[in-house]
This record gives sequence, C-alpha cells and structure tokens, in this order.
Amino acid sequence: MFLKKKRYIAILIITIVTALSLVLLKPLWLTQLTELEAERIRLITPTQVAPASLDRINREQLMADLRWLADAERQGRAPGTPGGIAAREWIAEQFAEIGLEPAGTEGFFHPYSVKEHFSFSRWLRGRNATIPGVENAANVLGLLPGTVPGLKPLVLTAHYDHLGMHGDTIFYGADDNASGVAAMLELARYLKANPLQHPVLFVALDSEEKGLQGAVALFRTELLHAEQLAFNINIDMLSRDTQQLLFAVGTYHHPWLLPLLDELQPQSAVKLLPAHDRPWYLAGNTQDWTLSSDHGVFHQAGVPFIYFGVADHADYHTPEDTAEKVDVMFYHQVVETVLSFLTLLDQHLAQRETRP
Ligand SMILES: [Zn+2]
Repeated sequence: MFLKKKRYIAILIITIVTALSLVLLKPLWLTQLTELEAERIRLITPTQVAPASLDRINREQLMADLRWLADAERQGRAPGTPGGIAAREWIAEQFAEIGLEPAGTEGFFHPYSVKEHFSFSRWLRGRNATIPGVENAANVLGLLPGTVPGLKPLVLTAHYDHLGMHGDTIFYGADDNASGVAAMLELARYLKANPLQHPVLFVALDSEEKGLQGAVALFRTELLHAEQLAFNINIDMLSRDTQQLLFAVGTYHHPWLLPLLDELQPQSAVKLLPAHDRPWYLAGNTQDWTLSSDHGVFHQAGVPFIYFGVADHADYHTPEDTAEKVDVMFYHQVVETVLSFLTLLDQHLAQRETRP
C-alpha cells in the first residue's frame, strides 16, 4: 500500500515538473522556431524581379471597380445590408456583361442564412468562438467554360463583404477585399477573351469576415462538391505592401506548387514568398494562414489550394483601408502575377489530367 502511494506521488511530481518545464521552455523553443522560419523566408526572398512590363489587365478598369466597391455609398459591404446587397447585384451584373454562365442556385446568386452558433475549431484557434448569425447573405457565382472538354473547374474565390459601419464610421475595405473582387472581374474579362483549358468558376463570397461563412455555405448546401473541383485560388488583399511582397500560401500542404512558383517568379514584378502555411510546431509564432480566409474551407474539404495576399498593414480592419491607399502599380502587377499563375496551373493540371 505504502509503495503504491509512493509511486502515485512520483508520477504526480514528474507530471507537474514536465508541465511546468513545457510552459516555461515553450516560449524559448517557439522563439527559436520563429527565427528559423524568418531565416527560411529571408533566404527565399527574391531580390531580382521582372520589370513591371506585363499589361494584359486594364489598370484603369481595375481601379475603377475597386473604387466602386470601396465607395462610401457601399457603407463597408456588411452582409445583408443595403451596401452589401448593392455590391452583389453589381457583381452579378458584371458577370452577366462579361458573358459568364450563371452558376448559383438563383441565377448568379447563392443565397444563404446562418444562425448564431458556437464553433469549437474557432475556439481552438484562439478566436471569438461564436459564429455570428447572418440573414440575407448571398454568394455570386459565374462559370467560364474551358477549351478542353471533361476537365474539372478551377475555382477563383474573393470575398466581397467587409465590416460595414460602426456607428457613423465606415470601414471601406478597399484592400480587404475590394482589391480581390476587382481583380477577379478583370481576370474574368481577360479569360473570357483568352480562355484556359479548364473551366473557371468565379465565386464572389459573402460573410468571410464573419467566419468564412460564404465558403462554408457552398459545401453545406451541396452547391459544390470537393471531388468535382480541380483547384481553389483565393485572392484576398492584393493592393499594397511597402516591401512589394506577395505571399503565396499553400506550398507546405502542396509542395508540387513550388516548381510552378519558381517558373512564375521570373515573369513577375512582385516578390513571391511561399510562407504562412506551416503549423506552429514548425514555424513557432509565425502566423499560419492556412485557415485565415476562404481557401481554408476548400482545404478542409480536400480541394488543393493556393492563397495570394499581402501582409497585414497598419490600416488592416480599420476605417483607413481606403482606395487612396492602394499602390496602383504594385496592385496591377499582382493581378498580372495571379493571371500568369492561372495560366501555368492550367497547363500543369491539364497535362496531369490528360496523361494516360
Ligand atoms: Zn479579407
């Protein structure tokens, strides 16, 4: 009896010492991992970039569309508000004018509502665990057929919602994510005239800011099925970075993308950085963006993805994220880079899919 008691005490002491040392040593260990990741990123930061010579995307149209979405009249495009509804109706009009096929459940629209609920996965990631309810939200979907029959669509996603109004203050959301939606429209215009081998499904998503609800609704309502999709390219925040850096997130999960990015860099006037997709036990306190925007939902559904976006800036999620702050030349070249990536991806996947 006495021996047994001693053993219990020993186990208890070992457990307490282990737990304490983990708590005390973890910051040091994480700091070292963060430094290793920073060193990895420093080593891959390209110093030589192409001149900003690509000009397939119409810069004036790109900026005009961004300004329309980030205008005060849109009142920050919160889901279900007059500004949010005006934005999605305008996007559907653009899709129709471009000549995309309606691919929602009601023409171009995919309406949905969400009840407020608790999310364990959000709680685990240290965020506000309650998913707020939204009423009268809707995604906008348009399809552009490809030139080769039988290929699964590439899905290009960009969320059009933002934070709306707080009192009298408008959160314009120019970079986040009028920039992604305006880019999507210009890419659709270009690709309509110069189609890829794959079909491209253009999806302007609602209520991303409320917990990626628009992307979740695509799969929850079975409008989309993961096994019927070839790939997801998500664009969210493209229009400004003081260091002219564009992050390419997803190569940790899909290393076959790295050679494509190596091929892309010499054509691109922005510095491409494959990062922000490693878990904390590999990258320390470096942020993991695997689930940070709508691509996370495609990833969890089993669809391979890449996410293009800039680093968070001082105006991120503030009323200062306005169209005037956009770096027009950088933004234009980012969209050109996404277009070049789409072309490379299309060729790569078509070869893979049609190989005997
Ligand atoms: Zn965003």
